[in-house]
Amino acid sequence: MPIALSGDKQKRGGMSGKRIGVYPGTFDPITNGHVDIIERGTKLVDHLVVGVAVNAGKNPMFTLEDRAAMVAHELEALSSGNGCTVEVRPFETLLMKFAEDVGASLILRGLRAVSDFDYEFQMAGMNARLNDVIETVFLMASETNQFISSSFVKEIGRYGGDISSFVSPNVHDRVTAALK
Ligand code: ADP
Repeated sequence: MPIALSGDKQKRGGMSGKRIGVYPGTFDPITNGHVDIIERGTKLVDHLVVGVAVNAGKNPMFTLEDRAAMVAHELEALSSGNGCTVEVRPFETLLMKFAEDVGASLILRGLRAVSDFDYEFQMAGMNARLNDVIETVFLMASETNQFISSSFVKEIGRYGGDISSFVSPNVHDRVTAALK
């Protein structure tokens, strides 16, 4: 092929022909809402990289390693059944740089309520300026998982509330232990 545009290649998922997606987040900790989005994401790509951002500015409750380990634990239980492979990778760079490094053509983000929109809109817009070949795609969780947020999970946990319907048993135990 005489002309191989690198952007074109990336659109088709790099040389391997695989469509790769990145689902970035803080995952402090991973909730059933995140897992819902991951499961939906597996329908859109051949390989999904769950990117755990260091996000020191958010002052996370769990270390990057712990957050990634909790994500990895959830992924073990995941049976996408549609041939998509999923892996977890911590990252400390700019999201777009990370997406380029893993050869992604899609960035997946979840939308909960109108309140998420402003931030997500700005992020998608700025990221599109940095790289207009990688598309940001928004997904909604099921009705039962839509309202779940990591910050409320931590807050409810802090006050001794029951978080078991928002997170997996593993995350439940990790949050309980961290709050002791
Ligand atoms: P970030 O700090 O990047 O927002 P989060 O871990 O809070 O990281 O969220 C990662 C992504 O998952 C975001 O796009 C967020 O909107 C989405 N998300 C989180 N919880 C839910 C949920 N319950 N339903 C749908 N999307 C969600």
